[in-house]
Amino acid sequence: MRFTWASATHVGLVRSGNEDSVRPLADGSSEDAVVVAVADGMGGAVAGEIASRVAIEAATDPGPDSSLSPGERVQAGNAAVIEAITEDFRLSGMGTTLTLGYFDPSGVLRVGHIGDSRLYLYRNGALEQLTDDHTLVAELVAMGQITEEQAENHPRRHLVTRVIGTETIDVDELDFELESGDRILICSDGLTSMLRDTQVAEILRQSTSPSDAAWSLVEAANAAGGVDNTTVAVVDVSP
Ligand code: MN
Repeated sequence: MRFTWASATHVGLVRSGNEDSVRPLADGSSEDAVVVAVADGMGGAVAGEIASRVAIEAATDPGPDSSLSPGERVQAGNAAVIEAITEDFRLSGMGTTLTLGYFDPSGVLRVGHIGDSRLYLYRNGALEQLTDDHTLVAELVAMGQITEEQAENHPRRHLVTRVIGTETIDVDELDFELESGDRILICSDGLTSMLRDTQVAEILRQSTSPSDAAWSLVEAANAAGGVDNTTVAVVDVSP
């Protein structure tokens, strides 16, 4: 299988800094394995920017040939953030989401995930979220205490329940069989808080290349208000 990827990130129209990080930074195409990740940092001053960068670098710097599993990569990201906090107490309280996909040319997508960034599969015109949001509202919906509609307008809808930056973290892992023609989207909540899944699917349908898709999604999030930083990685799977 061949993977063709692109990433895009934008500060948005409201925030003064971009606390998101994405890898790879450069667009590319390969028949070898590739690691693609999005992180959305949080914390005072520049701490959020540091958290997402430190975590994503620790998780992706071991190249695709590393024997680390996606879950172990996310754990390495957490260890690096904890170490940074230990070395500089002004960074205490910083954290980050991290959603990482290991694209194996044998046709398997292996995912490590914590937080409320998302990984979606776009296949045959249908968009499906493969990761669970680690948020208070997602847990309340899962327990049947509130509806999806109530979740969208909940005053604490941005409260993330599991993040990198704590001593022990509970990382979701999943393996997924890829098919030629699949398009995978990894994104920060700046995209999904601005656009409905139907709008995201329509943009993915209209976009001919991963780069076109990534930048069109960022532009659409900004056109809808750009309240948060928006970061997107798109990977196309071909024979
Ligand atoms: Mn965000």
